[in-house]
Order: sequence, then structure tokens, then C-alpha cells
Amino acid sequence: MKQPQVDVVIVGAGFAGLTAARDLGAAGRRVCVVEARDRIGGRTWYRTDLFDGPLDGLPDGLPDGHGLEMGGTWIVPQQTFVSAEVRRYGIAISDSALPSRMTWSDRGTVLDSLLPVPPAELDRLEHAVRALLAAGARLDVDRPLSAQGLADLDVPIRRWADEAGLEGNARELLISWFCGCGNASADTGSALDVLRWLAAMDNSLWGMVKASVLGQTFDDGTASLARALADDGGADIRLSSPVRSVRQSADHVVVTYDGGSVSARRVLVTVPLGVLQDIAFEPALAPAKLAISKENHAGQGQKVWALARGVPEDLSGYGWGTVFDYVGAMRTHPRGVVLVCFAPEHDAVDGEDVRAVQRAVREYAPDAEVIATATHDWVGDPWSRGTWTTFRAGQITKYERHLATPEGLVHFAGAHTAHRWPGFIDGAVDSGRRAAAELLELL
Ligand SMILES: Cc1cc2nc3c(=O)[nH]c(=O)nc-3n(C[C@H](O)[C@H](O)[C@H](O)COP(=O)(O)OP(=O)(O)OC[C@H]3O[C@@H](n4cnc5c(N)ncnc54)[C@H](O)[C@@H]3O)c2cc1C
Repeated sequence: MKQPQVDVVIVGAGFAGLTAARDLGAAGRRVCVVEARDRIGGRTWYRTDLFDGPLDGLPDGLPDGHGLEMGGTWIVPQQTFVSAEVRRYGIAISDSALPSRMTWSDRGTVLDSLLPVPPAELDRLEHAVRALLAAGARLDVDRPLSAQGLADLDVPIRRWADEAGLEGNARELLISWFCGCGNASADTGSALDVLRWLAAMDNSLWGMVKASVLGQTFDDGTASLARALADDGGADIRLSSPVRSVRQSADHVVVTYDGGSVSARRVLVTVPLGVLQDIAFEPALAPAKLAISKENHAGQGQKVWALARGVPEDLSGYGWGTVFDYVGAMRTHPRGVVLVCFAPEHDAVDGEDVRAVQRAVREYAPDAEVIATATHDWVGDPWSRGTWTTFRAGQITKYERHLATPEGLVHFAGAHTAHRWPGFIDGAVDSGRRAAAELLELL
């Protein structure tokens, strides 16, 4: 047979694929990255073209630095893989400004209190904190969770809260907070996967809050890091080229995409979990990988941006029994306050319907007037089929050990294959590094 055209074909130009391409390129390997979308970055997408139409006589356009992250946004120093890349390329990042107070919304009624529970329920809050910390302390996030006897935690969030004996507002807040972290519903998301956040932040509850919405953000968007990785790797990146099949023979693999094909000594597949099933593998994908891809993960909610007036400039609201589980102010500009909102259900609200979003925001800021909204349907998007990875209850126990296992000449990466931060940019970078090292040893 003819010589394979390249050493490695990487399927997907998200952070996992770009990191692997960079490492393989640095080691002198010929790499081709094949990407379905017309851009790099995958589930990170920094847009500077939103909220800038003509409005009430205000000038068009957002001031510099006012772009919106449609996907991945925050990082924390404890995410050592992404932080190392930020330092390596001198990427500008900033700490989130801390709010002067938290806002609690109890089924749409804003509580006028420092804590989310009335004094009579403080013991319940204390119990919830103890239960959380005790559970978090059981996890070693540097090792596969499925090897640590944690199946009792790998249950739906709501069930875990009940089994831990949580009650009152503390129970409601905790369930909603976990759903917010997982972008998953209380009956699908694995409590164990969210407890992993806590453990990865050295069992700090405050750390967990920071890792969700109060960490560091990229001054010029996540695109600045994605671009730095791509430029450094110098790989041949083919955009708008959805891969349809990956066919192995004894000594090479042929990857076929819309518009062409490329042969390689090995292939690295980095597509999101739910998308794996859409590629025709020959020989067929191992049953465990195919099964979890068909089940998909539980991160099936939404992230909505809203430009609003009549809201506190430092709003940071958590709620239960509300459409959004979190509504927070990211910044203020002449047109209003830019809010980021999360809902654990994909159909909780139509993120493009200004009135519907306004109703949902008013559960946190009753005087809010929403002027514009922006969102991306990651769940309906065929190249993501979900937001960030949160495993469904039971999936870690059942499938974790299969996710990164190579199959012949085909290797696997993607945030969902990482142990520490599988729902994050950090997990993607971690997995890209791991896979590149694995490939370099074999090539
Ligand atoms: C709404 C939202 C908010 C988030 N918030 C945060 C956050 O604040 N902090 C954080 O760290 N993380 C966050 N994340 C998660 C983070 O963005 C992801 O974990 C990370 O970007 C995943 O990288 P990846 O390379 O593993 O996968 P992806 O970024 O999904 O990359 C996979 C690539 O494969 C491509 N692809 C798919 N199918 C094919 C095919 N058939 N052929 C060719 N290419 C294909 C896709 O287009 C994509 O570019 C968020 C994600 C979302 C969606």
C-alpha cells in the first residue's frame, strides 16, 4: 500500500485536538486536523458580533473586550493544564469581580437575607455543608473514580440529596446548585461527577463556586488561546470538513470527510461523547463507547446571555424552583448590564425570546428590563449534542475505564476522557497532552 499521507489525523479542532496537534507537531510529526465547523475552538466560541445593533440612539458596536463567550468561559488556577498554556503563550486573563452580596431566589421570590435559609433552618444548612464535605473528601481526582468504591455517590443529584438527609432550603439550593454545575437535571446528572468539582478544588465549597462562575476569564476570549495553540502547532487544519468514517487496516487508517479523505498511521478522535456514534468506524467502535455515546451525557441545559437594565451591576443570583439556576452580571456597558444565565433544562426557556428571558431574569431582579439576548443551541448542534460533559448517574461506574482506551490504531481524547476536570477546558487540554504522549510512544 502507499505510504500514509500523515503520521496522525486528529478529528476535531477543540482544545483537546489543538493541544494534541501542538504536542505532536513539536515532536516533528506530520499532523492533519479535520474539523466539522468553519472555526476552531469547539465548545468554546468567543463572539464579538452580538448586542451591537442600533438601539435607543446608542452608538452601534460593543466596546473592545465586550465579546461574549457562547461556551467555555471560566478557568481557575487549580486547573493546571489550561493555566500552564495561558502562561506559555502570555494570554491575558482577569479575575472575576466579587459581588457585594449573593441574591437568593426561592421559586421566584428574592430573599432579603444574607444566607439562603431562615435562622430556624441553619442546622439544616450546616448539615448540608458537612454532608458535602464528607462526600467530597472520599474522592481522589487523580485516579479513575470508578476504581474507588464510589458507586453510592454515582446516583442522580436529587437521590443523593435525599440519601444525605438534606432538608428545607438547604436541600433545594444544593440540588439546584449541583444542577447548575452540571447543566443537568436533578434526575439525570450524577452527584459523583459534581462532587468531583469539589474534590478538585481541594474540597473547598468556595473554590467550587469560583470554578463555576467566579474564576478567571480570557480578556480577548478563549479564542486567543485556541489560536495560539493552532499557530504554534502549525498543523494542516481542514475546516468545514465533517468526518464521516474512520476505517482501519493493518498498518494505516483512512479518515473520510465531506470533501476528501486522508490516510494516517494513527488517528486521534476528540469529538464530544454524544457525537461519537455518528461516525462510521471500521471495525466498529467498542460496545461500551457506542453505548455511552447513544446514552449521551447529562449536560443538556443552556447558557443564555441577556443585556438588561434595572438590575444590580454586581448581581450574582442562585435560585431554586426558578427557570435559571444562576443569573450573574458579567459587566456593565453603556447599553446596560450584561448577564449570564444558566438553565439545567434545554427547553426551560427559549433563549432567543426576549420576553421569556426577561420573565426568567425577573425571578432574580424584579425590575429587570431585558433588551436583547444571545445563546447557542449546543444541544441541537450536531457537532456537540450537549454542553459541557456531566456524566449521567451510573455512567462513571459503568463506562469510565473504556473512554480513553485505544482501539487498534485509533486513539481517543476530549475533555470527557480526563480524570480531574472532564467538564472543562482544562480536561480537554489534559486529554490532548495525554493522547499526544501516548501516540508519540507508539509512532
Ligand atoms: C455553554 C458551555 C459553557 C461552558 N463553560 C465552561 C467554563 O466556564 N469553563 C470551562 O473550562 N469549560 C466550560 N465548558 C466546557 C468546555 O468548553 C469543554 O469541556 C471543552 O471546550 C471541550 O473541548 P474538547 O476539545 O474536548 O471538545 P470540543 O470543544 O467539543 O471539540 C470537539 C471538536 O470536534 C468537532 N467535531 C465533532 N464532530 C465532528 C466530526 N464528525 N468531524 C470533524 N469534527 C467534528 C467539533 O466541531 C469540535 O470542534 C462549557 C461548555 C459549554 C458548551
